[in-house]
Amino acid sequence: MVYGKLRYYFCVIAILIIAVAAQVKAESYLPLQGRVIILDPGHGIGADNVYRGYSEQTQMLILARKIRTELEARGATVHMTRETGANVLLSVRTALMNKWSLEAIREARVAELLEAPLMRRQVLQNQINELDRLLSILRKIIRNPEVYAPVYMNTPFDMTLTRRIHPQWRRLFEIQNDPLIRYNFLAISLHSNASSSSRIHGADVFFSTNCNPRNRNYFANYSHSDNMAFFGDILLDSIQTIGIARRSVTPYHFFMIRENNLPSVLVENGFHTNARDRANLLNRNFLSRLAVVYANTIEQYFEAITMGVEDVADGYRIFAEGPPLTLGVDEGLTEDDDYFHIFPGGPPLTLWFDD
Ligand SMILES: [Zn+2]
Repeated sequence: MVYGKLRYYFCVIAILIIAVAAQVKAESYLPLQGRVIILDPGHGIGADNVYRGYSEQTQMLILARKIRTELEARGATVHMTRETGANVLLSVRTALMNKWSLEAIREARVAELLEAPLMRRQVLQNQINELDRLLSILRKIIRNPEVYAPVYMNTPFDMTLTRRIHPQWRRLFEIQNDPLIRYNFLAISLHSNASSSSRIHGADVFFSTNCNPRNRNYFANYSHSDNMAFFGDILLDSIQTIGIARRSVTPYHFFMIRENNLPSVLVENGFHTNARDRANLLNRNFLSRLAVVYANTIEQYFEAITMGVEDVADGYRIFAEGPPLTLGVDEGLTEDDDYFHIFPGGPPLTLWFDD
């Protein structure tokens, strides 16, 4: 009798401990903590694409807001290039994206400066001064895009491909080749496509590479092409699961992916000239589901490109760095528990080791 009662109390206490532990774990784990995602809802009033009751600027703004809500709930910092229907020039949008990235780098350098040994301080201070100089250029473009955008950016786009990148703009791009940006930033331009054929449907992703001569002649060292090809690939696979067909992931020279060296893509979320894609993009429930697809894919992407060993409740978690990587345990050396190989190529994989 006494034994039975004890067992009862033991069970109650055990359940309480498990419940509290689960609560603590749920509260402390935000999968996108520290990540910065820039959403660029394409177009705006006066620069809209309107087709049979569909407005691209309106639907993409609704989509961006839904994605932001999903991402913020998962701990991410989200910037949007426009919050309302009012149009924002492409040059201003890109200048904003570049500004947010430099501000993040500056913040990291300032934090490092406070702790740094004397020898390193001067290097950091020089970097901060250069960041400030580039940030003042970006503010000039944002304040007065008509005057300053053509000075620093390839706009109007030079179709003869003779224009080279401005030296200051090149420095900006070089600075964006930084691990902080590579592993924590992602910029997504949101659009829907149009075709003269109503039969054409499906989603596309575009990104900058040096394979494309229109990019290469202008700036030859876009740094994040591999990650963006990977992100585009998993995004199109995910979008397909909710009813927008997969088209392709393609290098291109669109303004929003050309005038920065950030991990950035431009996504055409279907064709509004196709009846079925248009019905989906006009449907708020569909856009909510699409927003969840974006958030899940972004989470999957950052998990795949992160490398490190992290203590978790049931052992160690090993991350793979760089996008499509496969972690495999070498069969011939199974006696050595710590041994593992990183094979480039193949889908990203997370290995769980027991402590
Ligand atoms: Zn568009």
